Amino acid sequence: MEDERRRKIGDHDLHPETLMMGYGYQPEWSEGALKSPIFQTSTFVFKTAEEGKAFFELAYGLREKQPKEKLGLIYSRLNNPDLEILEDRLTLWDGAAACAVFTSGMAAISTTMLTFLRPGDVLVHSDPIYGGTHHFCRSILTTFGIGNVSFTAGRGPEALERAVEQAKRLGTIGMIYIETPANPTNSLVDIAHCVEVARRLSRPDRRVLVAVDNTFLGPLFQHPIAHGADLVLYSLTKYVGGHSDVIAGACLGSTALISQVKASRTFFGSMAGPWTGWLLLRSLETLKLRMTSEMKNARYVADFLQEHAKVDRVYYLGHLNESDPQHALYRRQCLSPGGMISFEIRGGEVEAFRFLNALKIIRLAVSLGGTESLAEHPATMTHADVPIEQQREIGITPAMIRLSVGVEHPSDVIADLDQALAAI
Ligand code: PLP
Repeated sequence: MEDERRRKIGDHDLHPETLMMGYGYQPEWSEGALKSPIFQTSTFVFKTAEEGKAFFELAYGLREKQPKEKLGLIYSRLNNPDLEILEDRLTLWDGAAACAVFTSGMAAISTTMLTFLRPGDVLVHSDPIYGGTHHFCRSILTTFGIGNVSFTAGRGPEALERAVEQAKRLGTIGMIYIETPANPTNSLVDIAHCVEVARRLSRPDRRVLVAVDNTFLGPLFQHPIAHGADLVLYSLTKYVGGHSDVIAGACLGSTALISQVKASRTFFGSMAGPWTGWLLLRSLETLKLRMTSEMKNARYVADFLQEHAKVDRVYYLGHLNESDPQHALYRRQCLSPGGMISFEIRGGEVEAFRFLNALKIIRLAVSLGGTESLAEHPATMTHADVPIEQQREIGITPAMIRLSVGVEHPSDVIADLDQALAAI
């Protein structure tokens, strides 16, 4: 972990956006290079055999670290300078003690779940969640004897309490996993309430962890650790990568929890590569600029959609009504509505497809958080694996379109939406 002093000027705490340009890297390590080079190497040379032995003792947890001792560089499946700098920088936005990066968001999610869940456990999760996570929980974790019970996001604290009662009858609750805002409905789950429930369920020999997929708003606009969450998960592929050209993921939390996650990562082999790490370091320098611009553009786009005769409903956090209980939660938990909008077109799948096929600037693709605007059809694409009845229950309809607003001029995005809606 980088020296605390580098995060301050005197008593003044530096902001993450300032630290993204250099934190965790010193030019003297690399011939004075301003930017970290790509350490494209599989392995690292030990100065002596004794040094190699000491590094492995720490890597395998065979002894405690000496004061100020650091795990040295061994092999790029365990650690690599580009990835370590990336991990240090990612901790700054979320106020986390530690971070582990992965080769994809799914690698982060699956490795984390398999680190903390055991056969006989039950995972309680919010719904909807990303389709891949849903598939992993329903079709993979269950084959290891790990059950799951879900509750619908946006239905208040009672929905979680009911799921907990049901889960208790099936086994030991090992983790509460939530996605908030939910993909694709933007429904919110109260992180602090999940933490309260998890603490109530925890026993001295088993802490029930709260893990939050913060891909939709984070790391700029929501900080789950500040609300008590134990673990924060990301698909870095989305806003952090931000250019739709890299796949990666991360898990953040306390040093003790992330050490366990890193131990699993070593043996599952789910570590990211140095080129991915370098690309993400570059992306982090413009993260605030991009997310702020996307957030501003989304407001214009959501307002346009709200007024359009061929749009029945818009799911956008910036439009939450003060009378809606989700509004108070939004004010407590989120720092901005972000750049994700879902909306229902008047009609059904036929009209939704006609609209998607008519788009000119907005590309028809899954994924989100990139500089370019993307649209997709959750019911038949990202959430195709969720049974139809369940889709209806959690608010995914055949008429729903999910839109990730990019950094283009908002009037161009609106012109494209307007002509595609006219084509229905
Ligand atoms: N979490 C959310 C909210 C996502 O939208 C996605 C991907 O779309 C993932 C996790 C999985 O991330 P990745 O595609 O990087 O594996």
